[in-house]
Amino acid sequence: MGKTTEKFEVDLEILKKYDRPGPRYTSYPTAPHFHRGFGPREFYQEIVASNQWSDAPDLSLYFHLPFCRTLCYYCGCNVVITHNPHRIAEYLEYVKKEIRLISRLLNPSRKVVQLHWGGGTPTYLSPKQIRDLFLFINDHFNFAPDAEISIEIDPRGLEKDHLPTLHRLGFNRVSFGVQDFHPRVQKAVNRIQPETLTREVVRRSRELGFDSINIDLIYGLPYQTVASYRETIDKIIDISPDRLAVFNYAHVPWLKKHQRVIPEAALPGAVEKLAILKMVIERLTDNGYVYIGMDHFAKPEDELAQALRDHTLYRNFQGYTTRAGAEVYALGITAISQLNRVYAQNVKTTREYYQLLDNGNIPTLVGYRLNKDDQIRRYVITELMCNSRVIKAEVEQRFGIDFDSYFRESLQQLEEFIQDGLLSLLPERIQIHQAGRLVIRNIAMAFDRYLKEDQRKTQPLYSRTV
Ligand code: SF4
Repeated sequence: MGKTTEKFEVDLEILKKYDRPGPRYTSYPTAPHFHRGFGPREFYQEIVASNQWSDAPDLSLYFHLPFCRTLCYYCGCNVVITHNPHRIAEYLEYVKKEIRLISRLLNPSRKVVQLHWGGGTPTYLSPKQIRDLFLFINDHFNFAPDAEISIEIDPRGLEKDHLPTLHRLGFNRVSFGVQDFHPRVQKAVNRIQPETLTREVVRRSRELGFDSINIDLIYGLPYQTVASYRETIDKIIDISPDRLAVFNYAHVPWLKKHQRVIPEAALPGAVEKLAILKMVIERLTDNGYVYIGMDHFAKPEDELAQALRDHTLYRNFQGYTTRAGAEVYALGITAISQLNRVYAQNVKTTREYYQLLDNGNIPTLVGYRLNKDDQIRRYVITELMCNSRVIKAEVEQRFGIDFDSYFRESLQQLEEFIQDGLLSLLPERIQIHQAGRLVIRNIAMAFDRYLKEDQRKTQPLYSRTV
């Protein structure tokens, strides 16, 4: 990749100023607002009702495969550590039950345009189990020929047949967890993964011909410094994945008890952490990657970068996507479905999951039905996060409101961002500037009706925004 003009100049003072707790807005309203008043019955009714529509949108399927061999201490996922193969086999039988239950309710003309397996470690399943589950899914849903089919992979523990099996089945995007190459960091977070192994799995994936290779990194881990993390970033640039996600480590030991094992004194301080972020963004954009938004980067020819240029980027619980408008049906424990009018999250333990499915129930734990105001605000926040602008006339047309009067209070809250040169309020639109994209969560917070209520809670609900 050659140099591009997309290079970001990151202003550390701005990052410092806006570094405070706030939602990531993978949904609006955010998950803490889901409640038990919306359960299996309500979700069932919504699925039935929304599948009567003749213009029901495309489908995006997510499968949560929660098993891992060992626990990474930074882990923020919903994970089950096990060495018992029977537990995995049993879980897969129940996922099949859920597939039968849900697929029966869907309008068969709806096409799956996106399938994602996340976890946990989906490749903790054997190649045979992967094949079996994949074919089962394929038998129960109607896939578009160009569907995006992706999977999260832990390079540790991959068998020889894993990658060829995935490729043969039709997976076209692979995502490898790496986090940091530095041995001291790897030891402190209980994730030893030699650099040679990462290079090898990427090389084999390229040989097999997967369309896209993603690498996940994390900054803010113990013992990281700007200098040490620069080495990891430079090695990643050399490996040259098509996409990169560089997540901010969320240290929330009050929510994730195992994070208490992380030596807090070894965590980079707030200023060091922001300096690491600055280095990451500048180094990657200086080496040809496009900053997609939040924690994501892609090569300029990648379809995410294309969607960013075309203002057609979209975002759901799995991150940025080009498949705007598809409804997400998510299966497996803790998985969150996102339909046009509702969110529904599955139960969190296998025990409850098996019990509900044995009784023929959809395994919903909590959910949320969006009212009109939620839908308007979700649209505005999505536009800000994905396309760095909000065209007032589009919102007015879509929802029948007068933008300026509807959002008078929110617009007043933007004053500080305008003073800092992060956005412009124009007569016809809100336009986010380059520097504003780095604090987009803070800008989106001005449009969040529930934030004041959230901030009154004694325990912080959200990690820091930068
Ligand atoms: S491999 Fe991923 S999901 Fe499993 S413990 Fe580590 S970070 Fe969590």
